[in-house]
Amino acid sequence: MTRPFNFSAGPAVLPEEVLRTAASEMLDWHGSGMGVMEMSHRGKEFISIYEAAERDLRELLAVPPQFKILFMQGGGLAENAIVPMNLSRGAMDFVVTGAWSHKSQQEAAKYGRVNIAASGREGGYTAIPDPAGWQIQAGTSYVHLCSNETIDGVEFAQLPDLKALGCDAPLVVDFSSHVCSRPVQWSRVGLAFGGAQKNLGPAGLTLVVVREDLLGHALPICPSAFDYQLVAKNQSMYNTPPTYGIYIAGLTFAWLKSQGGVAAMQARNIAKAQLLYETIDRSALYVNRVGPAARSRMNVPFFLRDEAGQPLLDPAHPRNASFLEGARAAGLLQLKGHKSVGGMRASLYNAMPLEGVQALVDYMRDFERRA
Ligand SMILES: *Cc1c(COP(=O)(O)O)cnc(C)c1O
Repeated sequence: MTRPFNFSAGPAVLPEEVLRTAASEMLDWHGSGMGVMEMSHRGKEFISIYEAAERDLRELLAVPPQFKILFMQGGGLAENAIVPMNLSRGAMDFVVTGAWSHKSQQEAAKYGRVNIAASGREGGYTAIPDPAGWQIQAGTSYVHLCSNETIDGVEFAQLPDLKALGCDAPLVVDFSSHVCSRPVQWSRVGLAFGGAQKNLGPAGLTLVVVREDLLGHALPICPSAFDYQLVAKNQSMYNTPPTYGIYIAGLTFAWLKSQGGVAAMQARNIAKAQLLYETIDRSALYVNRVGPAARSRMNVPFFLRDEAGQPLLDPAHPRNASFLEGARAAGLLQLKGHKSVGGMRASLYNAMPLEGVQALVDYMRDFERRA
């Protein structure tokens, strides 16, 4: 059986090898007589799965020893509340570069005073505001940004160096949709979080990587199960962790290592993104509005134009509908854009091979010839 290419933004494609291994181990993991979902999280079998996952992730992302790796629940959105409940001392700063960081600052406002240090909203989220112009409050608890905006297709090519901007507060990074697609500059990070369902595994698992000195400052209202210090002290087993999600993410980490690790992934992701953006930029039919320096390697929103050259937002427009129908028939799935943006979006996560992007651009060129 050959599977179609799946461009979903999330939950998203997983490496076929991971799915095959999980399928073959579903009834009996390594001769234990149990499936992973049926194991006690405190038994030696699951502990070995957990420890391997943590070790492999630490190695893949070169996470320094002074950072804790936590496997939690609640998704990226819950972290929008969990982060301020753990780190807020009253004031927080946000750099808004798209729909996700916008959502994050709205949620954080329940737990303290939010300052928008910079925003790309006026420009329609097509660029990253220059850090030199960020207006960060003195004494802020932390500065939050989303390093890859999944909906708008905007990615930080570099994380900002807050110290160089005269700010001592930790940087909080939502890296949900590009975690493990490129290395992380940990010296610039206080905490990074991400839902697993974009690039690592199933929905329901959230990854948090947090510097030790940021533990132990939770607000009294913070639920115990979301207190980073308690979670860290208990090796993510203060309550039952999402065991199956950790197992699948662990298989993905092992797969990433077998592919040459994050540096090899990055090289592959650059080639994939280049192929798609070049196809869009060279065509008279397709358009991507994000400035080249801020374009995401992982999520590529694009529009078809109408006869007058205007981008077609409405997915139900006959030209868009025909594009999506033809794509499906060609084995290219889930290309419809996010409802708030319209048009199309191709997500090129680690598990999407270059051949998938090649099949997509072949289809796009063919569709353009026929349009
Ligand atoms: C998907 C996503 C989220 C939200 O994840 P949920 O698991 O749905 O809560 C948050 N931030 C980013 C950047 C995302 O891509």
